[in-house]
Amino acid sequence: MSKLGQDLITITQRPDTVFVEGQGAWLTDEGGKRHLDLIQGWAVNSLGHSPSVITQALLAQSLRLLNPSPAYYNRPLLDLAQRLVAVSCFDRVFLASSGAEANEGAVKLARRWGSRMRGGAHEIVSFEQSFHGRTLAMMSASGKPGWGDIYPPMPGGFSKARLNDIASVERALTPASVAVMIELVQGEAGVVVADPGFVRELRALTRERGVLLIADEVQTGVGRCGTAFAYEQYNVEPDLMTLAKGLGGGVPLAALLCKEELNCFEPGDQGGTFCGNPLMAAVGLAVVNEVCRPDFLAEVQARAEQLSQGLQAIAREHGLVGERGLGLLRALVLPVDVAHDVVAAAQALEPVGLLLNAPRPHLIRLMPALNISAAEMDEGLALLRQALRNVLR
Ligand SMILES: *Cc1c(COP(=O)(O)O)cnc(C)c1O
Repeated sequence: MSKLGQDLITITQRPDTVFVEGQGAWLTDEGGKRHLDLIQGWAVNSLGHSPSVITQALLAQSLRLLNPSPAYYNRPLLDLAQRLVAVSCFDRVFLASSGAEANEGAVKLARRWGSRMRGGAHEIVSFEQSFHGRTLAMMSASGKPGWGDIYPPMPGGFSKARLNDIASVERALTPASVAVMIELVQGEAGVVVADPGFVRELRALTRERGVLLIADEVQTGVGRCGTAFAYEQYNVEPDLMTLAKGLGGGVPLAALLCKEELNCFEPGDQGGTFCGNPLMAAVGLAVVNEVCRPDFLAEVQARAEQLSQGLQAIAREHGLVGERGLGLLRALVLPVDVAHDVVAAAQALEPVGLLLNAPRPHLIRLMPALNISAAEMDEGLALLRQALRNVLR
């Protein structure tokens, strides 16, 4: 008997489960056991597993045109860009394949703008505990403890402030600063929501200093927080925004969006073999068309309210710390470091398991499909109760 994963380069520990099928809110493993999935590919599968909206877009586009080359326009690339411009406050779009790649593009564009308009300003201020991806530069941008010294030497030009502490941003800004990069909800840090007052002050401060504001909406964008983009709920307009995860609904797709005045790359400054390929762009267009409808977003808000209420009730029953989040990006805060045990207990439940994520030892993160039904949400909450009972008793 071979050991699971023996041919893979070891990157993380995974449970001994192989998933073979997904439908909506449910995943089925090789043994035939079903799991209610509240991870959904890390807030990626906005419409659940294998939704017809996506499978049909994939099929139709794959029969028509896979890859004309990034040197040419293709129709889905143009249509998705047009749609993203129509539903956001931005004017220009660059498509990429991952969140880290889109964020790298944002930093490059900000630095290009800085070299032209701000006398070579190039430093990026980001936040402690933040997560912006796993390329070397995005590891420098991220504020994850310990990430500064895994792969030395790290790219420079990034400094850190504290979320919800405007004085720390003022201290971090220097004449060389070109942008502040923020997650409006820090996902990997444990669903830490930026205060509305702080974000308003941050927007005013960056304007006053001639510094760009980059919103990393890789996790919060495309309906996840109950509006098309999280920045809408803060009544601010960033200068640049990045999207990935939910934009592709399960396929590798990302986007960098900017205001017209930042459209300052020279031909050849930026690109990529798969940037704007029609197969992924066709999926992104189908996802955005589905998610950005007002009636769809109203349902997301209703499910978010149901999840929040349910988590609050569970927190009261078990004497937990509480719950927090924005829309369908939420976390349950435990009084002790047993989140990994709860995740294991939830997956082990019989006859159906529950898939949860623990970004911190005392924290359970929930990121269901945006179109999860009310009944499935109730079932998820009941399974979570059971898993907590099994661990906390
Ligand atoms: C996941 C994530 C990224 C990185 O995206 P990848 O597609 O994994 O490169 C960047 N920023 C935030 C906020 C994320 O949640």
